[in-house]
Amino acid sequence: MSLPPSYGLYDEVEMKRPHPCFARSKRFQIVRVGADIKILCLGCGNVMMIDRDKFNGKIKKVIAHHPGPLVPGSSDQ
Ligand SMILES: [Zn+2]
Repeated sequence: MSLPPSYGLYDEVEMKRPHPCFARSKRFQIVRVGADIKILCLGCGNVMMIDRDKFNGKIKKVIAHHPGPLVPGSSDQ
């Protein structure tokens, strides 16, 4: 098993599978990092909570680092 890429809060990431929404986007932004990871779909704007182990298995790569939320109000930190 390979290690997941290192990621941090507000990183824009590509997942292995698209979000099952109209946009079918694979691009998400991390909006919270804790025991669970909260990611925001950059296609539809929905946020989902996913546990860290699952997230580590689903992330493909980090696309970009951002200083803050790309979508206002999407972070609770
Ligand atoms: Zn979506």
